[in-house]
Amino acid sequence: MKLKLQAAILLAFFFTATAANYSYARQFGTFASGGVLTANAAKYDVKYYELNLKVDPAQQNLSGYVDVLLESTVPAMDSLELDLVNFFTISKIEREGKPLAFMHQKHKIKAALAEKLAAGQRANFRVYYAGKPPVANRPPWEGGFNWSKDGNGKPWIGVSCQGEGGKIWWPCKDHPSDEPDSAGINITIPDSLYCATNGLLQAIVPAEKGWKTFQWKTRYPINNYNVSINIGDYAVVRRPYRGATGTMDITFYVLKADSAKGPALVAMAEEFLHFYAKYFGEYPWLKEKFGLAHTYYLGMEHQTINAYGNHFRNNQYGYDWLMLHEMGHEWWGNKVTVRDWADFWIHEGICSYAEALFLGDKFGPEAYHKYVKENLRRRIRNRQPIVPKRDATTSESYNDDIYAKAAVVLHTLRYFIGDSLLLDVLKTFATDPAYTYQNRVVSQDFIDLVNRKSGQDLSWFFQQYLYTAKPPTLEYKITSKPDASTELEIRWRDEGFRLPVEVRATVGDKISVKRVDVTSTWQRYQFSGNPKLEIDPAGWILMEAVEGK
Ligand SMILES: [Zn+2]
Repeated sequence: MKLKLQAAILLAFFFTATAANYSYARQFGTFASGGVLTANAAKYDVKYYELNLKVDPAQQNLSGYVDVLLESTVPAMDSLELDLVNFFTISKIEREGKPLAFMHQKHKIKAALAEKLAAGQRANFRVYYAGKPPVANRPPWEGGFNWSKDGNGKPWIGVSCQGEGGKIWWPCKDHPSDEPDSAGINITIPDSLYCATNGLLQAIVPAEKGWKTFQWKTRYPINNYNVSINIGDYAVVRRPYRGATGTMDITFYVLKADSAKGPALVAMAEEFLHFYAKYFGEYPWLKEKFGLAHTYYLGMEHQTINAYGNHFRNNQYGYDWLMLHEMGHEWWGNKVTVRDWADFWIHEGICSYAEALFLGDKFGPEAYHKYVKENLRRRIRNRQPIVPKRDATTSESYNDDIYAKAAVVLHTLRYFIGDSLLLDVLKTFATDPAYTYQNRVVSQDFIDLVNRKSGQDLSWFFQQYLYTAKPPTLEYKITSKPDASTELEIRWRDEGFRLPVEVRATVGDKISVKRVDVTSTWQRYQFSGNPKLEIDPAGWILMEAVEGK
């Protein structure tokens, strides 16, 4: 009875959350990822991680070891610092096979290095550990492990940890500023199950009786929360994708009971991939795969193995918005990654805006504007700036506005700099090596790019929209004059803000639209023929408009 009730509540939550939007207020408590990079963590650059873990569904337990190959970035690296939650017990840490004394407190591993590492010198550290990882309360918003079961009672296991970071299940440098160049993921599970994860499957090898090991490898940089394992009684549904520079498989690891629904979803994935490639450049991981793993929780952008738990439901336009959203993160979040969670909007906001672009591309400008108005604008909260502070944790930066408000900021930017320039900025941001793969970005990189491409200094625009909680306020008065003209007095209340505004003048069936300059001092414009005036009739501008009397 109790179980049934919990399931009902969970289901109700899922439906409200998915129907409205994907974002959800989250606080990650002591697990929050990112923030100020500690002095010890700043002393090295991770080159390679290799997970060698046994996942025991019956015990809900992980055990094994993780290799961390790192390179010193300081002249004498004298200490090792990694993150791993205290849920686990570490039995041993080795440096190149030799035991190392260590401490494990407050979710941090610390070890003094008697033999210091010179700048550029590499060393491999192996951490042996075991224990029960945190269980996800509200995945993916509050992450952790899901030890669920499919309809046939078989184990169905997943992990999501965007807010909490990889440290909730494996030792890593839990900071967005550092990604390894590649990673190995070797997972031992009962031999009746399948394990799908990032990159390409190298081999499935027998382990102890009744168990087998799935050996996977990705040869691309990957952020730690994107490393994810999906274990279940999966069928594998494939479809080839032909990109501009190569081919790969779209691969869906789907619960066997739902495998008949797989082909339609991978066909849709192919269409989405072509859409994204057109706007943001070729799929970033073409040498590996676009992967989908059927999950108990709604979704997450795990690189080359996107979590998919949207129950094969299409929206009113006939597409699966969840898959579209997660796939967008392969560009925005995975290929273009922020080095400070302060700039989280670059992942979520551009990805949300991409859905508006998709609607415009497929269904025309009306669908684009409808999405901005009815989906994005309604979710804006204005409780804190989109970029709250530097060195932010996921708890400090995650809220609805990094999705919806940031997307509307891009919509307003499009209005100001024009369609072709905005699309050029986005494509450059997603394809220039300075911003992608091994390089990570901050908001200022985006602002500098817009300034460079537009030949203008748009600091005033981003200061208002990214670094101020409130949108700009437009104040205007419309007065009919005895000489049959209409006067518009208009200004921005925000010092230095100077976005021009479209005004639609209607006299009978005669309509004209004029873009007028607006600054923080009052401007006056005259319209002859006593027209009816409408401010920003197309809804381009993110603002609060106040009509004076
Ligand atoms: Zn997202």
